Amino acid sequence: MSILDAVASVLLVHAHPDDETIGTGGLIAELASRGLRVSLVTATRGERGEVVEGPLSALQGTAALAQERERELGLACSVLGVTERFWLGEDPARAPGLSPRRYLDSGMEWIRPGLAGPAADSDANALARAPLIDVTNDLVAVVQHVRPDLVISYDATGGYGHPDHVRVHEAVLAASSALTIRYAEILESPTADAEWLDCAGHRDTVVAALRCHSSQLTVDNSDGDFIVHSGGQREAVHTGIGLRLSAPGTAEKSEHRE
Ligand SMILES: [Zn+2]
Repeated sequence: MSILDAVASVLLVHAHPDDETIGTGGLIAELASRGLRVSLVTATRGERGEVVEGPLSALQGTAALAQERERELGLACSVLGVTERFWLGEDPARAPGLSPRRYLDSGMEWIRPGLAGPAADSDANALARAPLIDVTNDLVAVVQHVRPDLVISYDATGGYGHPDHVRVHEAVLAASSALTIRYAEILESPTADAEWLDCAGHRDTVVAALRCHSSQLTVDNSDGDFIVHSGGQREAVHTGIGLRLSAPGTAEKSEHRE
């Protein structure tokens, strides 16, 4: 028994360009190779991302960075085999009757150890500051458009606490609950309650897709495959991924909180 049994169409929801590849590149390549329809919603252009030192440095903090990240996302998605992709806030990922809106990257800062929040100077249109109901309604629209068998996104920690990732998780939980559609949370390491997919056969594809995100990271494969982020942090390229069905009932609780 696999979470993916009888699944022909999946919708992944990510916060920033590059998250789809860093977090789920192996999974996307695997799903595409199985012939599944793989749809992706990206919530922001990651315009607060730090740019890798080099020819693209001048883009840092400019409007052109958003355009560059759109371009990079398109390239990476072609490499991975994404069937179709959407921006949250734009048709068909926009609640009916509303004009398009652009959710902005919130940036991140540590409020206290273990708790991250949006950057103090984040824009009023930042994703993490947007009302949960707005984000949820836009997600509901795209889920109804795609009609996937499974939605895949972050767990409650957002992977590492980035407020945009957490916001996406909360909205996916609310939308999937409202539409009674299955929601699988992404886990970076195996756990007893998750299904582990080893997508090691797609390593070359993942590395090629990572290289598309050249404003954000470089790939160092002089000694194994590593991502080197713009700030210099090294992270091993991973292809394996855990999927855990979101527990029913938690969505109602989070709705009451709003
Ligand atoms: Zn992200």
